[in-house]
Amino acid sequence: MINDDKRSRNQIRKYSDSIVTCLDSQSPPVVLKKVLEYLEKELQLTIHTQSRSLSDNLSGIYVRSNDTVGIMYNSNHSVNRQRFTVAHEFGHLVLGHAHKDPEHKEIGDINSEDDQEREANIFASELLMPFKWLKKDMKDKSFTTLELSLRYRVSELALGWRLSNSNALLLS
Ligand SMILES: [Zn+2]
Repeated sequence: MINDDKRSRNQIRKYSDSIVTCLDSQSPPVVLKKVLEYLEKELQLTIHTQSRSLSDNLSGIYVRSNDTVGIMYNSNHSVNRQRFTVAHEFGHLVLGHAHKDPEHKEIGDINSEDDQEREANIFASELLMPFKWLKKDMKDKSFTTLELSLRYRVSELALGWRLSNSNALLLS
């Protein structure tokens, strides 16, 4: 079933592409500190990020109070997964998701069918693996999946999810 209210990957990509364009870098990996600074200015928010030892089934926690956002990510997870969690939280912010609760816990399910989770996952993957860079890499060079995941600093799971959702477009 297709719901018109759902934002498509292309619509979400427009948001992430406009951010990547403003970062003044031409190659991976995307530096999340720069994205944070951009979002603080653009959204007029103060964003704090902090790694913390959380239980394994939690990838992160997002807390919002007025103009301040706190993002905690699980220090026990791999660095690449932590990057995806932070990018996912940025997605919730950029996409204007109003969580019912001021505190939102992430279980980090890349296959979640919840609309907001799905959109934030798409945003994170588009942000960390920008379409134009990935398309060029797929065309110009014969990187292995492992090499691409190291280059973009994403997990092989996130890379696989990205490719399986847009491989035909990337190769066209
Ligand atoms: Zn989420």
